[in-house]
Amino acid sequence: MTARIIDGNALSARVRGEIAERATALTARGVQPCLAVILVGENPASAVYVRNKVSACEKAGIRSLRLDYPADVSPEVVMARLAELNADPSVHGILVQLPLPKQFDEAAVLEAISVTKDVDGFHAENVGRLSQNQEAFLPCTPHGVMKMFEAEGVDLAGVEAVVIGRSNIVGKPMAMLLTNAGATVTVCHSKTRDLNFHTRRADILVAAIGKPRFVTGDMVKPGATVIDVGINRLPDGKLCGDVDFESAKTVAGLITPVPGGVGPMTITMLLENTVISADRAARAAGK
Ligand code: NDP
Repeated sequence: MTARIIDGNALSARVRGEIAERATALTARGVQPCLAVILVGENPASAVYVRNKVSACEKAGIRSLRLDYPADVSPEVVMARLAELNADPSVHGILVQLPLPKQFDEAAVLEAISVTKDVDGFHAENVGRLSQNQEAFLPCTPHGVMKMFEAEGVDLAGVEAVVIGRSNIVGKPMAMLLTNAGATVTVCHSKTRDLNFHTRRADILVAAIGKPRFVTGDMVKPGATVIDVGINRLPDGKLCGDVDFESAKTVAGLITPVPGGVGPMTITMLLENTVISADRAARAAGK
């Protein structure tokens, strides 16, 4: 058996086309969606992520405002800029690229972003709303995974879902979204005893670990849907996921590749959140 491969690039291109149409319509109403992106320091991976986000905005007709600060900038300077962006009606989304240098209190920075412009969905209020299954800005990576389930017609009600990873940006919100959708969810992490016991009974297995090819075919239930969130750079410069694609695809029913799986969906959901926020601002302004 060979699993069907979920094409994240194709799905992402389709959704980005819809987002671009919405952005054009909003611009015609006098409200061009705008995302402000703050980058502190010169972390090479962060610089690539920010470049990709800014370029995706341009292609979708979303204005981007890129704000770069040196690694030794005082947190007060960034906080003051955040307050200005919060108050600026032409800015609809604000994103602070993580990680931040050590003089910053990351949680405090995320809390300083207006809840209504928190397009990354990391503000504690948005996280709380998600946990109560209320409307909220959803964190982009797990939201992108949910879009994939929807597009592939994966039924979530009553299924056994296992998420490996409990980070605030991927594992925990992924588990909440799956719970809200009616799955029976188990969250595994580095302290989990007998990980294979859990993974082998998963109808849906989401790997968000940060360890190259960690999940092997023998850990996968036959026919399962395997979602690989991991992005790991190998010594030869190539990218690979947290799942050993070659062995897992012989057991799984449906699987995401890396690259070309979850990755492109993450930025797509960031664009969608920015357009949603701009749409709310336009309505509030009676446009
Ligand atoms: P974190 O390092 O914050 O979290 C990793 C999680 O994996 C932790 O909960 C950790 O457990 C768990 N873990 C580590 N080792 C094991 C193990 N041996 N067995 C079981 N669980 C283990 O990573 P992130 O959540 O930020 O990211 C995960 C991966 O996803 C990374 O590869 C990252 O690059 C990628 N990523 C991809 C994105 C995309 O757009 N596709 C976006 C964001 C991230 P514990 O909590 O106990 O330490």
